Amino acid sequence: MKTYQAFINGQWVDAIGGETISIVNPATGEVVAQAAKCGAQDLERAVEAAEKAGPGWANTPVSERSKVLLRASQLIMQHQKELAELETMEHGSPMRKTMNFDVPLCAEQLEYFAGVARAMTGDTIPVGPWCLSLTVHEPLGVVGLITPWNFPALMVVWKLGAALVTGNTCIVKPPSIAPLTTLKLAEILTEAGAPAGTVNVVTGPGGEIGEALVRHPRVAKIGFTGDSATGKRIMHVASDSVKQVGLELGGKNAFVVLDDADVDAAVQGAVFGAFFNSGQVCAAASRFYIHDSRYDEFARKFVEAAQTLRYGDPMDMGTVIGPVAYAAHRDKIEAYIGEAKQSGAKLLLGGERPQTEDTKNGYFVAPTIFGDCDHHARFMREEIFGPVVGLCRFQETEEAIAMANDTAYGLSASLWTGDTAKGISLAGRIKAGTVWINEHLIIFCDTPWGGCKESGWGKDLSKMVLEEYTLTKHIYVDLVRQPEKPWYGILK
Ligand code: NAD
Repeated sequence: MKTYQAFINGQWVDAIGGETISIVNPATGEVVAQAAKCGAQDLERAVEAAEKAGPGWANTPVSERSKVLLRASQLIMQHQKELAELETMEHGSPMRKTMNFDVPLCAEQLEYFAGVARAMTGDTIPVGPWCLSLTVHEPLGVVGLITPWNFPALMVVWKLGAALVTGNTCIVKPPSIAPLTTLKLAEILTEAGAPAGTVNVVTGPGGEIGEALVRHPRVAKIGFTGDSATGKRIMHVASDSVKQVGLELGGKNAFVVLDDADVDAAVQGAVFGAFFNSGQVCAAASRFYIHDSRYDEFARKFVEAAQTLRYGDPMDMGTVIGPVAYAAHRDKIEAYIGEAKQSGAKLLLGGERPQTEDTKNGYFVAPTIFGDCDHHARFMREEIFGPVVGLCRFQETEEAIAMANDTAYGLSASLWTGDTAKGISLAGRIKAGTVWINEHLIIFCDTPWGGCKESGWGKDLSKMVLEEYTLTKHIYVDLVRQPEKPWYGILK
């Protein structure tokens, strides 16, 4: 069994404490690898390496930094199969998805950041003829990037791409259960030309090494994606050093089908929105509000479509749904299923643990749909993060909008309607970072991503993320050199 070391200062190193953590394949329940369990001393080494690399990388022209990302993008595609297999092994996501979606998208994202960073400009601000007032974007310094397990490769590429191209040096704390793709990506970036110390990866438990990274006084910013409860803790810890934090947190995303919707299109979107990645997606459609006049047709067709989804061995290219990521997570999802059954909701599909030959040892949850749900039930309010959804009926559009907004979260929502103008108008009334009209879940590198309320703040992706990883500095130049300025008179 392979033991994966941490990646610090361009080198593979054991954790100074010598400890490791086990990596489990969720499709089989078997331990498949060990990874370094880093501690405070390992973090210190990473901070020193990142600080040392900082000035050189910050002063490298953006055109050269972009080329590193472009070379990495090509190398990612050269290692497509290896990366896909690693992610499938550590996370359980089917090869069909990791090969065709996650890895190519990682490559595309780096291409996007390489291009968009070169178009980043400062401003000149016409304050008056006596001065030149301009803004420049400077790297923040050493940034900490803490990522979740639900898309181990993609989530770190979102952050690394933006942070590196803007001239920062990075310390990544990947998900403790799935750090292997991140380690491979760090190696690829280094091979592509990122100097030693620009990308460091410290592996280990979030509550220990992750929190130490947040606490570290010489780390300028934390870019975090994960659970809302962890995000709150990170804000709290980061406040000691008034550290900047970007928080991409959880969601409980509404899927609203109005009376004039194309039900067949909505059903296609619902299957993708709810069950892609076994529902382990921050933006997964999980609360369905269906107009009463379309409810029966939608529920019947949704169940028919969802029951054709083939789950099983994620290494099989025919499998579309793999296991969920770890045993305790499967148990949590099953507890929500139990509660939903108790609540009086009608079980329309799934709800039992699959027991086929290739699923019996792994952490599988069958796609599960509940109908006639109470919008106030706990499973309709908390993030389940699995392939479990609930449907509710509504009579009036106002009622649907109120229910969609009645949540602690504000990440995303979708509206399904035949009237686009109505859709745009209603989108303006939904409190969420993204509202899709006649679509759900699709995210592009070019468009901003990030929520409000307990779904966090700040943006990933798009040109907006570049400002999140830079200090916008205002530089003021006096042009007239008069000894007397009108405002000096205040002191005379
Ligand atoms: P998590 O919060 O448990 O872990 C995320 C990362 O934080 C991991 O690397 C973990 O080790 C680390 N961590 C844990 N405790 C920490 C602490 N006290 N200090 C510092 N780091 C700590 O989340 P998860 O279970 O890995 O991921 C699932 C969550 O991520 C879901 O809530 C999901 O909605 C959210 N998510 C959000 C987005 C988004 O863009 N908004 C995208 C993907 C996932």
